[in-house]
Amino acid sequence: MIGYLSLGGNVGDARANLRKALQALDETPGVEVLRVSRCYLTEPVGELNQPVFRNLAAEIKTGLAPLELLNAVKRIEQAMGRAPGPRWGPRLIDIDIILMDDTVFETPELTVPHARFRERAFVLAPLAELAADAVDPVTGLTVLALAARPEVIGRVEIDDEIDS
Ligand code: AMP
Repeated sequence: MIGYLSLGGNVGDARANLRKALQALDETPGVEVLRVSRCYLTEPVGELNQPVFRNLAAEIKTGLAPLELLNAVKRIEQAMGRAPGPRWGPRLIDIDIILMDDTVFETPELTVPHARFRERAFVLAPLAELAADAVDPVTGLTVLALAARPEVIGRVEIDDEIDS
């Protein structure tokens, strides 16, 4: 199945952390990273008093079930978020599962499609690069149509290719 993930970070070298997370995803058994959007500079949503974020979207091919994919994503977040020593450091990377084909999945730990992705420019802008025509199975709208709606919040600007 084809899935779309949103990756973001605003602590330390965010671009390096995004690259590291993409590599870890690609090295996960049952997950192959097919394509990656450009990197975007995005303003924080909610708590404004923090550094700008860098966000991108990744297209993956996966044989994992939704909860298996969530566990893989959480393992990567935890491995990267752990500071040297016994204490948990700041979270350097956030990985959200946005879409998994036309799967609609709802449990206490996981909602797919992601519950808040329809309102977030920092998710929709990079996602539209990869999957403008992908259909949200809940609303029936394409990613492009969702991105054009007035309720989308957050300013975004293109940072660059993640590889450059
Ligand atoms: P956050 O603070 O945004 O990283 O929230 C993380 C928690 O949201 C995880 O522990 C998941 O159990 C839960 N969650 C629910 N839906 C999703 C989703 N589509 N992708 C990632 N995490 C999700």
